[in-house]
Amino acid sequence: MQTQKSRPGAGTAYDNTRAHDSPIDRVLSRLDRVKSTGPGKWQALCPAHDDKRPSLSVKEADDGKVLLKCWTGCGAAEIVNALGLSLSDLFPGDRYTVTNTGPMRRPFDYRDALAGIAHETLVARLIVESIRDGRPIDTETAERLALAEERISDALRAAGGVQ
Ligand SMILES: [Zn+2]
Repeated sequence: MQTQKSRPGAGTAYDNTRAHDSPIDRVLSRLDRVKSTGPGKWQALCPAHDDKRPSLSVKEADDGKVLLKCWTGCGAAEIVNALGLSLSDLFPGDRYTVTNTGPMRRPFDYRDALAGIAHETLVARLIVESIRDGRPIDTETAERLALAEERISDALRAAGGVQ
């Protein structure tokens, strides 16, 4: 076996192993016809409906979260399911892990629900940022915001509603 000689520059701390675990890498590696549309932005075929032209926009937020937005209205949960992922895969690390201990064990998946809520909040935040940047808000965007509210309410209902 050959001993590897150290090349010039070897030992510099360029870490490219971390990226394999990042949410954006998990998502992009599973999508088809991925095209970069700007820094931290991509377009791809939506896996949750019969997509003929790429209608899924993928965005990586500064903190590593991934936002999925299908222009025909597929939900993030449907999209990640179609990719074989779960909503929590859109978030870096295990910040959203909820340890379910104690006597109040329920079949409801809090981790997934919280990830779903966090995602809908991110959708809302990006819409607000877009408005702040002076871009006009179209009907589709306004409806998407209403859908975010609806999904958060659904999650609350699934969790047993307000006591
Ligand atoms: Zn779709």
